[in-house]
Amino acid sequence: RAAASRYAGRAPVDVLQEVFGYTAFRGNQAEAIDTVVGGGDALVLMPTGGGKSLCYQVPALVRPGTGVVVSPLIALMQDQVDALAELGVRAGYLNSTQDHHARTGTERAFLAGELDLLYLAPERLRVPATMDLLDRGTVALFAIDEAHCVSQWGHDFRPDYLQLSVLHEHWPDVPRIALTATATRATHTEIAERLQLTDANHYVASFDRPNIQYRIVPKDNPRAQLVDLLRTEHDGDAGIVYCLSRKSVEATAEHLTAQGIPALPYHAGLDRRVRSENQSRFLREDGLVMVATIAFGMGIDKPDVRFVAHLDLPKSVEGYYQETGRAGRDGLPSTAWLAYGLADVVQQRRLIDSSDGDAAHRRRMSAHLDAMLALCETVECRRVQLLAYFGQDSGPCGNCDTCLSPPESFDGTVPAQKLLSAVVRLDQRGQRYGAGHVVDILLGRTTPRVTQLGHTDLTVFGIGQDLGEGEWRGVVRQLMAQGLLAVDTDGYNTLRLTEASGAVLRGERPVRLRREAPRPTTRRAKAAK
Ligand code: ADP
Ligand code: ZN
Repeated sequence: RAAASRYAGRAPVDVLQEVFGYTAFRGNQAEAIDTVVGGGDALVLMPTGGGKSLCYQVPALVRPGTGVVVSPLIALMQDQVDALAELGVRAGYLNSTQDHHARTGTERAFLAGELDLLYLAPERLRVPATMDLLDRGTVALFAIDEAHCVSQWGHDFRPDYLQLSVLHEHWPDVPRIALTATATRATHTEIAERLQLTDANHYVASFDRPNIQYRIVPKDNPRAQLVDLLRTEHDGDAGIVYCLSRKSVEATAEHLTAQGIPALPYHAGLDRRVRSENQSRFLREDGLVMVATIAFGMGIDKPDVRFVAHLDLPKSVEGYYQETGRAGRDGLPSTAWLAYGLADVVQQRRLIDSSDGDAAHRRRMSAHLDAMLALCETVECRRVQLLAYFGQDSGPCGNCDTCLSPPESFDGTVPAQKLLSAVVRLDQRGQRYGAGHVVDILLGRTTPRVTQLGHTDLTVFGIGQDLGEGEWRGVVRQLMAQGLLAVDTDGYNTLRLTEASGAVLRGERPVRLRREAPRPTTRRAKAAK
């Protein structure tokens, strides 16, 4: 067994330098490592790229025996093992992709004490033979990677993670370290509970990325808005533009290229060779813009990405954080820019309603979307709201759009009542319409449709002429974000009231709204006149 303990008893920092070639630990790596080396449990919450792996790799080398790493990322195991081999660390894995020969080879090495690290797919622990194997060898520690997979609330739930509490029951003396990058306060608590990490020390790294400037603007003509942003602030910079659909990825890449901005498309529908060629050009060349679906970005480590732009609304705050987090890894000022509009909300709701999952799954997706909408519509500091989502308190940052030019908010109770009344009036006639038509009615427009349907007779016809069309669309969006108005995704995107709408109509609940900032395109159009 002595072979597995080459570094047993050595100081962690020596192992960091000799094996991994780094000079010092970062953030709270050292503390987490000390806890595990000393036999204690740890829960580590660190953003992607924060350096979670070392938190279990170093203790695995320092403690006698093999560090057993439970990870759902089966596809990455071979790469991880290869990378460790380059450093002289002896690692192996057990998962379903292996043939019998490879598996028994790994098992033999483990039992002979010749492995520093053993990666394990969670479903392996359902197999009694695996438990038996671990019993016969020496386990230095259990690392539970991507620990948020235990959360039924999260977006990555894996049923096999629920039974990981067996580790503690079966091996009460083996220290455990759970690690994740996606941890809201609720997930955090849930991880600790479900994995029975009651006495674990918690190490929470800051999720703040101070060099990233967060900006969320109302969507008007998104491609023109994007070109405007790139020309005025990011001329010649490398960046990523995220779009929801493959079609929109290609159209946007073409548009940018036509505007003289070098851009490449990336989505899962492209030929594998084209994809990897575009990816390596983006990494290698300067000043390229990658227009991509969210398929792009995992494991991409390009330090000088100066902006991440979203032309469509991300599905969750976690997704938004991960995607924008690809900007500014070098610590230099970078922009996270998102254009979002009413159609995004409608589209996302439709995606949720038509998704395959059960009701609970749809409720979760819906809650994720609501949190994202709240971030879009906040009149407070974006960063405060973003960090609060990850359970971190902070003060106004001075480096986001709402800090830099605080949006005016106003008492929107009356406009809200007008809009909701219009929906009620139509409903009383047994009719439901989409936002465009309802706004036409409020503005008193005699469009052919309004006239034909006799909607000029409605008492609400023309009562909203104090606001412009753009402002009304903003009211609709914000009422949706506040849960005061809903859209039916029945194919017609019709508006309907929610349970909370009644209180507004009865004057029992005031509504605060964010005044829309003037739009750059409109401003330019005016200046041109
Ligand atoms: P995570 O799993 O948290 O996303 P990784 O463990 O993959 O992050 O680490 C991200 C990168 O940072 C890796 O290239 C890793 O080698 C490097 N890294 C981690 N800790 C340190 C350190 N103390 N000093 C220098 N580089 C580090
Ligand atoms: Zn701010």
